[in-house]
Amino acid sequence: MSGSEDEEEDWSNYASAGYSSAYDPWADLVPQEEAEDFDDDFEIDEFASIRPPPADEGLDKLVSMGACDYCIVRLSGQLYSWDDAQNLGPTIRKSSEERGTTKKDDAQFCPFCEDLFVDMDVLVKKIKSELDGIEFKKMQIGAHFAKSHVSEEDDLRTRHGANGSQALKAAFNDALSQKLKQELKGVELVKEHPEIMVLIDTLTFNITAESRSLYLYGRYRKLERGIPQTRWPCRACKGRDGGCESCNDTGLQYPTSVQDQIGEPLQAAFEAKNTAFHGMGREDIDVRCLGRGRPFVIELKSPIRRYADLSELTELVNATSAGSVEISELRSSRRSEVARIKGTAAEKSYTIRFKYGPEPHVITETASDDNGGADEQIEAQPEVEPPAELTPEFVKEMITSLEGVTLEQRTPQRVSHRRADKVRKRQVTSISEISVEGDEAEMTVRCESGTYVKELVHSDEGRTVPSVAEKLGLVCEVIWLDVNDIHAD
Ligand SMILES: [Zn+2]
Ligand SMILES: [Zn+2]
Repeated sequence: MSGSEDEEEDWSNYASAGYSSAYDPWADLVPQEEAEDFDDDFEIDEFASIRPPPADEGLDKLVSMGACDYCIVRLSGQLYSWDDAQNLGPTIRKSSEERGTTKKDDAQFCPFCEDLFVDMDVLVKKIKSELDGIEFKKMQIGAHFAKSHVSEEDDLRTRHGANGSQALKAAFNDALSQKLKQELKGVELVKEHPEIMVLIDTLTFNITAESRSLYLYGRYRKLERGIPQTRWPCRACKGRDGGCESCNDTGLQYPTSVQDQIGEPLQAAFEAKNTAFHGMGREDIDVRCLGRGRPFVIELKSPIRRYADLSELTELVNATSAGSVEISELRSSRRSEVARIKGTAAEKSYTIRFKYGPEPHVITETASDDNGGADEQIEAQPEVEPPAELTPEFVKEMITSLEGVTLEQRTPQRVSHRRADKVRKRQVTSISEISVEGDEAEMTVRCESGTYVKELVHSDEGRTVPSVAEKLGLVCEVIWLDVNDIHAD
């Protein structure tokens, strides 16, 4: 995830480096000296006596140096568009030749662009063949120039070009964009959010085309327990070398995941290389996710296809996963929404069924944090004696008493290997639909994002305070848990 972000930054820096947006027409302006009378014996710069374009002698100099038609126009000081540069160049050259100008014999190629503009048709052809078969409408180009070429051209342009002439990089991007627009009908050249990124090395004419990730937003319902949200590599082999015996050579700890149930049909439809899955939080493997479902963004990497009927794809995913995972509200998204999805702290509602008793609840571990300061201490709660007669009314009353409380939850033991050990405060917004049958109870809990709900029930040996177990004075065990709703979007 962070790797691909870095990549994107690199690309865009690279890409915008050569853009005309960065072009300042006055950047090359050299202050004009007042005309002075020179003494004959004063050593005069070779070119100082030649007036720059648009003066004829300046144009003649460009022609004699062997500048190409494009660079003649670019440095001529005349208004032009890349559309008519092809015609304007020869006209200027012809006038100059009529004045008796000839190209120097040793001028092999245009000293300004090193024939980049002359070879542009070859380049366009190469780009087109590189993009053959890929669906896209928005394209961004970036050109990499050798530093020495840029500085040499800068120097030459300052000395021989009209003041304010467009620099090589900006001119190249303008000219190439113009040609590509003509050649690739219906394709828009953009400076941000491209679908295709083309990077050109102007020295080698090497072309790299990258199809940018396609992002889709939706909500998923997980209707079966035992499915992780994202692909989990096998614990034994870490998914390396095509798997091992314990994972049946799949490389995966679980045969499927929400990511794959949704991602595999989409990956095939868009002919993408891979997927990345970003959920608005995640439920445990043994927890279902019901209601309107959990918002997610799926990233399809390097897609060949890009345009599809999303309602058809929704049906395809739902048919393929055959009742274990269902999606809805599928729409196109973009990378920035991943951060929104990840950053949204939505309240959630759960339905929990649990068993209580008969053993008393025992606090084996105090919730105080060894590493934390005084504010991280959880007040030790007095042990509660279970009542002599445990009526359903008493159980309901104890559960209801947790409504509105702020829990202090020390990192649960089950996640302590991957989460920092600290105490979190989370509010229980509401508790409803409590039912009690024998030694089992069920309830619907709405609570703040990031609440450890299983621990709210069983207390994790006193690491969550208060808890149902503590209130009842009995050990509690979660039977099942469903996410009913994620109160977001
Ligand atoms: Zn040139
Ligand atoms: Zn394995």
